[in-house]
Amino acid sequence: MKIVRTTAQLQKAKKELSGSIGFVPTMGALHHGHLSLIRQAKEENDHLIVSIFVNPTQFLEGEDLDAYPRREEADIRICELAGANILFMPTIDQMYEKDELCIGAPAIRGYILEGQKRPGHFDGMLQVVMKLLNLSGATRAYFGKKDAQQLALITQMTKNYFMDVQIVACEIVRDEKGLALSSRNVYLSESEKERALCLSRSLKRATKMVMSGELDSDTIMKEMRSVLQEADEVEYIAIVDRAFKALKKVELGNTIILVAAQVGKPRLIDNIWI
Ligand code: AMP
Repeated sequence: MKIVRTTAQLQKAKKELSGSIGFVPTMGALHHGHLSLIRQAKEENDHLIVSIFVNPTQFLEGEDLDAYPRREEADIRICELAGANILFMPTIDQMYEKDELCIGAPAIRGYILEGQKRPGHFDGMLQVVMKLLNLSGATRAYFGKKDAQQLALITQMTKNYFMDVQIVACEIVRDEKGLALSSRNVYLSESEKERALCLSRSLKRATKMVMSGELDSDTIMKEMRSVLQEADEVEYIAIVDRAFKALKKVELGNTIILVAAQVGKPRLIDNIWI
């Protein structure tokens, strides 16, 4: 595995690869959620590139940029064991210059839910993903459904900008109790981890209701709120279609149910695709 830290090195290393390239961009502190993307990318392509970059432009003022978990040595080992050909770990200077041209998230899909809570977050995310996709020369790039809105926006960006890359949506990986894995879960104490299970529990309850024929969004969201009482603060519950338009009634095969809540220090997000 080649570890490259400059964009020039990446472009040189990439030229030596012939065949398809699977690419997995991450912010590091790798867990089994990342690993499932990495494994899928490895399986479906001739070559695998992973990037680790804690992207400053997607963090808002006062968010956890400096405290974001960093575990470089362990991450390198994981990527090596997973069979990555290239691990790209750039510095901020490599990725950005002053007064850049920026991409903006679209008003509707980009500034609701996560985008409303974290205005500007998706602009920064799209900016770095555009750079990383161009640099990697990926045939296919892998993203988790865990960040459903991010996934929808990246898919839209590649379509709107005619980018020659296939975006692959990967299933959410959970721990044995149902908690969606996240690098930020390290902030949770044991008791907070227990309370954090109310997010996945609320989604399971919603799924059960749908299975038994209840399709009314308000009724489902009301029930979810009652399951979410163990959270310190519920930021949003939403039932949307795959294009993130709010749904009055669940549409089977076209619905995402999302929840965001604060438990202890971190804000947690989770969702289910129905
Ligand atoms: P991050 O390092 O948080 O930026 O995540 C990098 C990629 O891993 C994103 O595409 C995430 O959606 C994905 N990811 C993070 N957690 C999970 C999970 N529990 N299951 C599946 N994918 C995940």
